[in-house]
Order: sequence, then C-alpha cells, then structure tokens
Amino acid sequence: MAGSFQYNSVDNAVGKLSKIQEYLDLGYSTALEIALDIEESNSTGESSPEVENLKKVTLEYAQMEQELNQWLNAAEMTKAAFQKEYKNVKDHSVPSIEDILMSKLNETDTTENDLQKHPKAKEFIKQVWNVNHGGQPLPTDQNETIDSDIIIAQASEESIICPLTQKQMVEPVRSKKCQHSYEKAGIIHHIRARQNRVRCPVAGCAHYVVEADLEPNSSLAFRIKRLQRKQ
Ligand SMILES: [Zn+2]
Repeated sequence: MAGSFQYNSVDNAVGKLSKIQEYLDLGYSTALEIALDIEESNSTGESSPEVENLKKVTLEYAQMEQELNQWLNAAEMTKAAFQKEYKNVKDHSVPSIEDILMSKLNETDTTENDLQKHPKAKEFIKQVWNVNHGGQPLPTDQNETIDSDIIIAQASEESIICPLTQKQMVEPVRSKKCQHSYEKAGIIHHIRARQNRVRCPVAGCAHYVVEADLEPNSSLAFRIKRLQRKQ
C-alpha cells in the first residue's frame, strides 16, 4: 500500500512540473518578441545591450528547462523502478522515494551541456541575427566549431507558403522524414484521402508523408504570426 501511495505522489509531481514548461515557453517567446522589436529599430549595426540581456534571459530559461527535464526524467525513472524493481518487494525493504529520486537525478546529470546549443537559444540567436543580416552567415567565435544546424537553418529561410495549398500557412506542421512543412488541415485531408500515405508535395522531394510523422513547426508558426501582426 505504501508503495502505491508513493507512486501516486510521483505522478502528481510530474503533472506539476509539466506546467512549468508552459511558463518557460511563454517566457521564451516573450523575450524573443521583445528582442526582435528592439533589433528592428536598431540601425547602428552593433548588437544592443538590451538584446544581449534578453539573450542572457533566454539562456537562463534554457538552463531551467534543462533542469526541469532532468527532474522529469528522474521522476519517470523512479516510476519505472517502482513498476519493475520494487513491484513484488515487501514494503519495508523498499527504499524511500526520495532516495530513489536522488539516485536517478545523479544518473541523469546534464550540467555539462552547452546552453548556447540549446534549440531555443539557437533559435533566439538566429532570429535576432536575421532581422538586420538576413541571408548573411552568422558570425562565430574563431575557436568555436560552426554549428551545422544553424548553417542549414540560415541557408534557406523556410517558406511561409504551404507547398500543397499554395496559401500562407496558419498551423504549419513538419514531416520528420524530410523536414518539409505544410498547412496541418490541408496535408491531413490529403493524406486521409489517399490511403494514409502521400508523396511529399514539395517539388523534387522523394519522401512519403504519413500522419504519424507530422509535428508542429513552432518556430515557423511564430514567424508567420509575427509577420501577420506587421501587415
Ligand atoms: Zn519533403
């Protein structure tokens, strides 16, 4: 009985931690939004101290997200441990939930990760740079290896027009297979009308698209919303 009580308390904690992610996402998009506004009115060619501060804020959010994910992973591992290792053990020999959680936290320590490489931090750097330097390569520290993701991202700015509907997208989704994006309603209707599998509508792309491979393209959605507000 004690075991199942502890198990529920882990589930509750995971639910509360997941809420924090929503606040972090709001924080990220607010910081980016303000930084882009500042950058758009910045004609000095130098990076502004306000934008640098917002970048620091974004890195702090990235750090929090990393720690949050570490806790979530540890909580999931604790749950799994209860299900597997301690399921048939008599209550008195089960270690306390705190002990299990702390040992799982140590197993998932991620403090060595480079925050500058966090996807949200990269997104911030890329979007701010593109305001006044669209199409130009990002400057990099001489000692730093160039991040291939950023190079790919800036080599071609993603189109906001759906390759299927030929209209500006509202809810873009991306296929995990080929990384092309489409309007969600349009591509899903198209897939369902054709035996649940269609060739990617992007000219020259040989991949197939199925519903299970679709994921929201939130950075493209962010850019479209911003463009609409400016129109
Ligand atoms: Zn494709």
